[in-house]
Amino acid sequence: MKKRHYIIPIFVPHQGCPHDCVFCNQREITGFQEDMTPKKAARIIEEYLSTMNKENSKIEIAFYGGSFTGLEIKEQTQLLEVAYKYCQEGIVDNLRLSTRPDYIDREILNNLAKYNVQIIELGVQSLADKVLQASCRGHTPEDVFKASRLIKKFGFELGIQLMPGLPKSTQESMFYSVQQAIGLTPDLVRIYPTLVIGGTKLAESYSEGEFTPLTLQEAVEICKEELKLFRSRGIPVVRIGLQPSSGVNKEAVIAGPFHPAFRQLVESNLVLDRIKAYLGAKVDEPQLTFRVNSRFNSVLRGQKNNNLKALQEEYGIKIEVEVDNDLDYREILIAERKQII
Ligand code: SF4
Repeated sequence: MKKRHYIIPIFVPHQGCPHDCVFCNQREITGFQEDMTPKKAARIIEEYLSTMNKENSKIEIAFYGGSFTGLEIKEQTQLLEVAYKYCQEGIVDNLRLSTRPDYIDREILNNLAKYNVQIIELGVQSLADKVLQASCRGHTPEDVFKASRLIKKFGFELGIQLMPGLPKSTQESMFYSVQQAIGLTPDLVRIYPTLVIGGTKLAESYSEGEFTPLTLQEAVEICKEELKLFRSRGIPVVRIGLQPSSGVNKEAVIAGPFHPAFRQLVESNLVLDRIKAYLGAKVDEPQLTFRVNSRFNSVLRGQKNNNLKALQEEYGIKIEVEVDNDLDYREILIAERKQII
């Protein structure tokens, strides 16, 4: 039986971060106003554990939300010790965290290695220098390359987070960033289309008409192409878009391509492309039946059945969907031929 996978998120809001990236109001994003302390971290872990079925489960504790390794080593260690105790007791499998590329060095990595940290995610956002500068990131592409190489060298798994739609980004710079990110051979990727959050510099630029976020449709198209590129290299994209479950205070989003089911929009759009490519210019039958796993049904159909409507309109045929749980997720049986999306 497949293991359940739980992540216990501990948000460390803006603590340790002297930067002011134009898109970030970390306290709004995480929904946490106060600094994280070892005591609070322990309470969060206990609360999560009390709701979990620990049998046959993989459990990770994740320090998210800020620039964890920007904290003083002593503060990092205090938080890591709290979490590591659960690893030593065999309750939690490992730790993971997210941080900035310029807060990685040998001393930091040596310390993280002592506490069973397995995955380090870097907030890369872009690999185009002009975009990083316009976003006031305060680090260069070279910092990303150096940090990624060191993380890999130390044997950690590497995660890369990208943000399409930042100021001064273009289609070209976004795909350049993806190509460069692929070159870093990450173990996982997250794609967060840029949103305008209240209280940020980006919100000011937006209200002054100096910054225009991606539309929802543009963001879906770009993320779809990025997803295809990463998938083609076997790199898992574990998240696309900021979901309410990740702690986004929706009220704080004042503009940008926010959608509560953003990933599904991207996946459904990709499915539609693949089906059209498979069917070609025209279909001779008056009706087609698609068979899919029940978990993939809503992705195939698209929001409000939009994919089915688009296909019916384009080909002038009737389309039926049947559930077949012998098929894998992302497998579609069309006219008895299997198509993997
Ligand atoms: S480095 Fe991270 S936490 Fe700091 S301002 Fe930028 S996005 Fe926010």
